[in-house]
Amino acid sequence: MAERMLKFVGTPQAMPAKRPASARRHDFQEIYSAYARDKASEQAARCSQCGVPFCQIHCPLGNNIPDWLKLTSEGRLEEAYELSSATNNFPEICGRICPQDRLCEGNCVIEKGFESVTIGSVEKYITDTAWEQGWVKPIVPRRERAESVGIVGAGPAGLAAAEQLRRKGYQVAIYDRYDRVGGLLIYGIPNFKLEKEIVQRREKLLRDSKVTFHLNCDVGRDVTLAQLRERHDAVLIATGVYKARDISGPGVGLPGIAPALDYLTASNRAGLGDKVPAHESGVLDAKGKHVVVIGGGDTAMDCVRTAVRQGAKSVRCLYRRDRANMPGSQREVKHAEEEGVEFVWLTAPQTFLGKASSNGERVSHVRSVRIHLGMPDATGRQTPQEIPDSHVNIEADLVLKALGFDPEDLPALFAAPDLGVTGWGTLRIDWKNMMTSLDGVFAAGDIVRGASLVVWAVRDGRDAAERIHSYLATKALSSANGAAARIAAE
Ligand code: FAD
Ligand code: SF4
Ligand code: SF4
Repeated sequence: MAERMLKFVGTPQAMPAKRPASARRHDFQEIYSAYARDKASEQAARCSQCGVPFCQIHCPLGNNIPDWLKLTSEGRLEEAYELSSATNNFPEICGRICPQDRLCEGNCVIEKGFESVTIGSVEKYITDTAWEQGWVKPIVPRRERAESVGIVGAGPAGLAAAEQLRRKGYQVAIYDRYDRVGGLLIYGIPNFKLEKEIVQRREKLLRDSKVTFHLNCDVGRDVTLAQLRERHDAVLIATGVYKARDISGPGVGLPGIAPALDYLTASNRAGLGDKVPAHESGVLDAKGKHVVVIGGGDTAMDCVRTAVRQGAKSVRCLYRRDRANMPGSQREVKHAEEEGVEFVWLTAPQTFLGKASSNGERVSHVRSVRIHLGMPDATGRQTPQEIPDSHVNIEADLVLKALGFDPEDLPALFAAPDLGVTGWGTLRIDWKNMMTSLDGVFAAGDIVRGASLVVWAVRDGRDAAERIHSYLATKALSSANGAAARIAAE
């Protein structure tokens, strides 16, 4: 091992080549190209094979990172793929969009002084190679089971659970209100972070593995939760969180002010070749406009970078805290700045001003106030305080509100008043068995955690599949014991 690994002293960190901002501003293709084989092997060999690998500890999936890095450095890619896919259903997706600077790479021990091993890029390389080489195969379970599981939501949590349950031989049906599979992977996250073919080949794999999809099926409207519970032996709710947080203030209802996810969904649908209705494409297209995005998370970063690519005249991101205190990934901020986005830190919107246009009054400016960060509150974060008389009018023909998401009222939507929720409206589960307050109804992903990350959704989906398996196995055993007892008594 020693000669091949531990190369971090002599080999500098190298990410795969990043396309120049001047080129990527004009298209929606991913911004990093792929590693060449030698480069992946060279970068994997920088790992020092820690006895206690902090990278693995800080990966929500507990990926066996040192071992697959070693296999990659040795050119044993098929084995590296077997190992990495044993703990992650979508390694090529996580490799692309995990905030590695906060997870595995941010905790790599050589990060201090030498820059971390490029774990995400190697993970992506291994699985992209596996797809190219035909090593990724549909699931053929060792034995089919009669029991079926209904999953509500075809996002990463639902899909990961489906794959794990299918491996055990369960009959799996997924219901989703969208017309496509993938949840936020398909309609939220833009193409330049995750090309849609990557998601669609996963969908095909699941279909080829005999997972059934019921799309355009809104649970609560087209079918009730009670009906799903009758139809299936267990149900998993993985519906994500979609109620956009709003902003208050005079003029907030003006045309030209839109929720971020509506904007990103319209852009993704256009990219997928859908005809986006004129009323949406008119409002939700940044071409030639001065765009202001309000918020400092991943959704805001995706909006500003989408607006650049749509040909906006100017793009500004307004955030009430500073760079160090924003929730979005620093890597994304850097990409956005390179692409020409202006960040207006420590600034909060107060009023939305309008002006007459040929289509009636529309937003024209965001009147904003400068912020000073005061004493930390109970959560430890400094409280934003307005600076008196510091107002400024920022030009805007399109304002996107990216302030986060809350869960819908699922007990009302599903006509299931006994479905327990937390104070935040997320589903309450028993973390030991991931079951909700309803027998045989489990939950996973953002609907349990609140808006989170893809890698956590995958983790939850896998855990839920295990718990569902235990639940169904216990049920089968007790009904077999009951039948045996009845026969013995006869
Ligand atoms: P979702 O992906 O939201 O999927 C839920 C599915 O349930 C959807 O398909 C929805 O249509 C369906 N559904 C909802 N209600 C019903 C119903 N009543 N009936 C039928 N179907 C229903 N995370 C990262 O790790 N990296 C990133 O770069 C990143 N970028 C993001 C960018 C944006 C714009 C957003 C909004 C989120 C981003 N995230 C990112 C977060 C990540 O996408 C989510 O944490 C993750 O998708 C949650 O997975 P999920 O399966 O729980 O829910
Ligand atoms: Fe890192 Fe995410 Fe891969 Fe885990 S899944 S190793 S956190 S990129
Ligand atoms: Fe390798 Fe860094 Fe993980 Fe250590 S922490 S095993 S050096 S990737």
